[in-house]
Amino acid sequence: DVTVDKIAAGEVVERPASVIKELVENSIDAQADKIEIEIMAGGTSFMRVTDNGIGMDNKNARLCILRHATSKIQQVDDLMEINTLGFRGEALPSIAAVSRFCLMTRPKDADLGTVIKVNGGRTDEIEDVGCNIGTTIKVEDLFFNVPARKKFLKTTTTEANKINDFIIKLAFSKPHIAFKLINNNKMTITTPGNNSLYDAIECIYGAKVSEELLPVEYIDEDIKITGFITKPAIIRSSRSWQTLIVNGRIITSRVIYKAIDNAYHSLLPKSGYPFVVLNIELDKRTIDINVHPQKAEVKFEDESRLFKAVYTAILEAIKPSNN
Ligand code: ADP
Ligand code: MG
Repeated sequence: DVTVDKIAAGEVVERPASVIKELVENSIDAQADKIEIEIMAGGTSFMRVTDNGIGMDNKNARLCILRHATSKIQQVDDLMEINTLGFRGEALPSIAAVSRFCLMTRPKDADLGTVIKVNGGRTDEIEDVGCNIGTTIKVEDLFFNVPARKKFLKTTTTEANKINDFIIKLAFSKPHIAFKLINNNKMTITTPGNNSLYDAIECIYGAKVSEELLPVEYIDEDIKITGFITKPAIIRSSRSWQTLIVNGRIITSRVIYKAIDNAYHSLLPKSGYPFVVLNIELDKRTIDINVHPQKAEVKFEDESRLFKAVYTAILEAIKPSNN
């Protein structure tokens, strides 16, 4: 139903960066280890995500543009055990409802792939096609049929920056995946996908940052924290440099930010925010990730324990003997 999809698109698709988020998370869920993202005009005129993941057969390609056609949750109990980034099954139909959408996909055991074109929610064309294994999704003229939403977009530079910032964080959360971002025909991000967070940081920010990194390592019974924080030489005036990853998802969390700030400033009485990437692994049952698709704030069962763990991990990493 085109109308339902258009309404749902308001929830899922706020701007080009939200489209990129949904598409790239699908590529990750499809076990890709190479993901290439191309955008033009901040993603407003053109976005294309190409992956080398498992692809879809003809039947699943037809299904995936229909509402709630997720292949990822079999039953309600699964909600507690979500291992994939997506599970709602509404991203693709929502995106296809408000753009000119083209999907091309092939699983490894098929000779031919499938191409499907959808124009503002109406399927135009379904054909067999010769193509690589994996999936390519192209989204053009976002919001061409919803002018009211188009008005809310910022400048193309701002929209491109939002995509860029998101891909950086994602690359840190999945260092085993080789990411490429091409913005207006210019390569702006490339990571090696060699499973080294350090190398991913160096590829993106260069030696100026990577030479300042201090490793974070903390393990207790059921909290494991790894990552990097910079020495005091490098700070910023906003949190834009801080990436929090909980069980493989990029999140925001007031508790965790506060623990980082308190630990950092207890030893280094300075204002500003250090560069941080924290990878936190927790028992799945102690986190609530089932929140609104656009909200990354996560709820934790035992906030004070988590606070202490992060505080201790940061303090340990920056104590003077490490500098
Ligand atoms: P969800 O991710 O919540 O399941 P989506 O609308 O994002 O819902 O995707 C619908 C379905 O399409 C997915 O469950 C998956 O089966 C399939 N799919 C989407 N993108 C890809 C991809 N890049 N590679 C393989 N399958 C995909
Ligand atoms: Mg999805």
